[in-house]
Amino acid sequence: MSEPHHRHLRVAVVGSGPSGAYCVEALLESLPGTSISVDVIERLPVPYGLVRYGVAPDHERIKSIIDSFGEILSHEHVRFLGNVAYGSDITMLDLRRHYDVAIFACGANSTRRLGIPGENLPGVFAAADFVAWYNGHPNATIERLALTAKQAVVIGNGNVALDVARMLVNPRETLLQTDVPQHVLELLVDSPIEDVHIVGRRGPLQAKFTTKEIVELGKLDDVDVTVDPCVLRVTESELKQAAPPTARMVAALRTLGSLPRGRARRIHFTFFRRPVAVFGHPGAESVVLEATEGDNDHGKTERARREVIEAGLVLTSVGYRAEPLPELPFDAVTATVPHTNGRVFDGDDTRPAVYVAGWLKRGPTGVIGTNRRDSLETVKALLSNARDFPRALERDPGAVVSLLRQRGVEVVPWDGWNAIDGAEVARGARLGRARVKIHRLDELLQASSRRPPE
Ligand code: NAP
Repeated sequence: MSEPHHRHLRVAVVGSGPSGAYCVEALLESLPGTSISVDVIERLPVPYGLVRYGVAPDHERIKSIIDSFGEILSHEHVRFLGNVAYGSDITMLDLRRHYDVAIFACGANSTRRLGIPGENLPGVFAAADFVAWYNGHPNATIERLALTAKQAVVIGNGNVALDVARMLVNPRETLLQTDVPQHVLELLVDSPIEDVHIVGRRGPLQAKFTTKEIVELGKLDDVDVTVDPCVLRVTESELKQAAPPTARMVAALRTLGSLPRGRARRIHFTFFRRPVAVFGHPGAESVVLEATEGDNDHGKTERARREVIEAGLVLTSVGYRAEPLPELPFDAVTATVPHTNGRVFDGDDTRPAVYVAGWLKRGPTGVIGTNRRDSLETVKALLSNARDFPRALERDPGAVVSLLRQRGVEVVPWDGWNAIDGAEVARGARLGRARVKIHRLDELLQASSRRPPE
């Protein structure tokens, strides 16, 4: 990948999601030309970040990337340090002392808000929080959910909007094949949801869905899809002018809208509407939408045209957002860490030994595979500068673990994750499912320290 350097490089990768795993892969690919060891520092006791906690549970094929990430993270040159939070358990100063270089690949964990009246009513959730809930994230902010509504509104036209809509209408058989925690399964299976409205503030040509995800909706059992008439009004010349993936996606939307009707549950696509308020007492009962005009101007509206959709569940799926991390520069406008090809840049001072990858680097865009290129760019830059890094003072790999233990941090190693993995499969076997996720932090930690039977 780059010219080899002739000393041992100790690398910390903060975050074990897709971008972190792809960074480790790229670092390992530089072997044997480089002498390298990587510690993956993960705030949860379990690896895989967004693949475990973001990808929809019914997307088994996408989740199977876990197999190759597992091979990467359990490589002999890699050590997993789970349950270690950057900023509290380990600081930038510690990283500088124990590692020659650090890569931050901790994603974008926060959500964008709409800022409309009623957004804080019970029954209104950020889609990301709903995703964290059904995926059993230990820090999920939703603990108990009453799924009593027959109608739901999802605001936003990205793939996350499709994920949450699908999870609301998936049939029991599909849900049973997922690994969602048991309490989540029970709620989703018994959910009375009949209609899910996916609402976009712009038109079909501006929607951020991908074709595969749209086509998939047409294959859902017992679910009809209806599309706004504006989809049929998209002209051939507009389609020709659009980027080919967009044209294919809109064509797929058209096909969906012409499928037979009369099924028990429905997904409706509504375009050119923006939410102005959510009403209801004590919780959400309806969403007021305002018609928008024009394709690119988010601001112009025809104030006269307002409509109300009844909805006891409102999910705002308007994108993720990274939060600033201690001791790292942050561009509040783009919500990313400023960098050049992954090398963190702080005003005039280019920090030599701090890099960034993934959503923290480029913003919350792209599919999982996008991170491979992105991480490769970061690692290439890192390896080409490796000779200039100030050498970490502490060279003993055991020192950082001792330090963490002294601080009372219960470090979960790869074996600990293997034990959790086994416990989740065993839990599944008891309940007639392939795997049931453990969603509570204390139970994860308890499972991590249980030895597998000899
Ligand atoms: P996204 O693709 O960026 O979509 C966000 C949507 O929110 C856009 O339609 C945007 O509309 C809308 N929006 C933003 N602010 C709004 C506002 N104030 N009012 C109304 N609408 C607003 O984000 P995402 O869905 O969270 O997905 C994040 C990334 O993960 C994407 O790259 C996505 O493809 C990926 N992902 C992939 C999969 C998969 O491959 N199966 C699954 C899930 C997620 P404007 O365009 O008008 O701003």
